[in-house]
Amino acid sequence: MTKHPLGSPYVRDQLSLRTIPLNEKRLQPEGEYILYWMQTTQRFEDNWALRLASVEADRIGKPLIIHHGLDPHYTHASARFHTFIMQGARELASRAQALGLTYRFALRRRVHDDARVIDRLASRACVVVTDLFPTAGVAERSARVAARVNCRVLAVDSAAVVPSASFHREEYAARTIRPKIARLLEHSLERVEDRAPKRATPPSLLASLEVEWLDIGRCDIEREVGRCEVDETVGPVSTHGGLRAARARLHAFVADGLRDYADRRRNPSDDFGSSRLSAYLHNGMISPLEVVTTARAAGDTAQSDSFLNELLTWRELSFNFCLRNPHYGSLAALPDWVHRSMRTHAADAREMTYTLEELERSATHDEIWNAGQRELVETGHMHNVVRMLWGKSVLTWAPTYEDALAWLVHLNNKYALDGRDPNSYAGIQWCFGKFDRPFAERAVWGTIRPMSLKRAHAKYDMTRYLERWGREAQLAL
Ligand SMILES: Cc1cc2nc3c(=O)[nH]c(=O)nc-3n(C[C@H](O)[C@H](O)[C@H](O)COP(=O)(O)OP(=O)(O)OC[C@H]3O[C@@H](n4cnc5c(N)ncnc54)[C@H](O)[C@@H]3O)c2cc1C
Repeated sequence: MTKHPLGSPYVRDQLSLRTIPLNEKRLQPEGEYILYWMQTTQRFEDNWALRLASVEADRIGKPLIIHHGLDPHYTHASARFHTFIMQGARELASRAQALGLTYRFALRRRVHDDARVIDRLASRACVVVTDLFPTAGVAERSARVAARVNCRVLAVDSAAVVPSASFHREEYAARTIRPKIARLLEHSLERVEDRAPKRATPPSLLASLEVEWLDIGRCDIEREVGRCEVDETVGPVSTHGGLRAARARLHAFVADGLRDYADRRRNPSDDFGSSRLSAYLHNGMISPLEVVTTARAAGDTAQSDSFLNELLTWRELSFNFCLRNPHYGSLAALPDWVHRSMRTHAADAREMTYTLEELERSATHDEIWNAGQRELVETGHMHNVVRMLWGKSVLTWAPTYEDALAWLVHLNNKYALDGRDPNSYAGIQWCFGKFDRPFAERAVWGTIRPMSLKRAHAKYDMTRYLERWGREAQLAL
């Protein structure tokens, strides 16, 4: 595998494919630095936004400042997500020092605290570079900033292994994007030699910016999170944020679960049957490229192909869906055959209905469903097999299809550490027929692929899963 120096034709090619201007404004030559506004690529490795910012910094001879902010008002802001992100930020701060990068982390504690840090930083920047991400409010936030500030704002895609711009339209299904990814993959896996920009950031410049950056390396994270105006009822979990924990998880999975992935991923109580990397991938704490190359290097092609089918085909299909379909969060995103089916079956009598509050408390009649919801609430994770059953069941238990979709988005994104991701919307919409084909018609389901909790016992190994999560007691939320 070739290693390209920063600024090589390969890097320039990739950067032009991965970069989208968010405004028509010009680079400000009198600016004092290049600003990388880190949002969802919370790492320095395989970070194309950081690469672009470094190339630009050297090209015009300015220093580079990496600003990473955490606000209290993102949807479902909670102690769980704040803790995970701050654990990762602590590691970033110490690695930045070793790499010679200027990384600063700002914590806005209350909704009414200073909201315009990014505007002030942008007002003295030549150009602002940020992450391209279609969900979690990132695209909207970046567009608002780009409209307000005076300098050029660029969004760069580091989330997808194959640049998302390679797929100009919304892909129809896994089978349509898979061959395209296969064609472009090798070219996208070439490694790049990163280095810090030549000009260091003078401490006097940082001091003059008047931003209250947090000493993330030394602060008491729990105490800091406790001072934030976020939902404390959704508390921290044992999954630790940051690259070190992500790599430990990756290597443990490759050493154990990967060799039988196709089988073991079907067992919800097998802790190493799947990688459990989704929360790290969602926050950009580990590079998907690193995951791909590590899995491939492990050797067993059939098993790693099965894993890469999820990591590449399904993950990049989800990214494409949310990037190219503005309706990714509503039923409008579904194909015509689903709409026809829903119109026909909207008034069908539901065998049982629950309220959102009952679902949230794991108070349904079904032990597997309740167990999945408990796992989600208590750990921030739900096994894929259970997640499919969990999503499909709500489709038939909510009074309307619209409620079912909204409730699943709510439950998923409130509790899951990997929530608010393109995969969240793609996974939930899959339950309603997205990326799928019509099946034989039945009540309520219409022609959407049905899935039965009753048959799950026979199909999957649920015994140990229920021993762990199948308590009788309802959660005291
Ligand atoms: C109703 C429902 C909701 C979902 N919500 C989310 C969510 O909020 N966030 C999320 O990341 N995934 C979501 N998924 C997809 C999938 O369940 C998770 O990605 C997977 O369970 C994560 O576990 P893992 O990291 O061990 O996956 P592994 O099996 O180890 O797979 C490796 C990686 O591939 C990707 N991947 C795996 N399965 C899928 C899939 N079906 N679609 C897209 N990408 C996939 C993930 O990034 C995952 O980390 C959802 C699926 C359903 C049915």
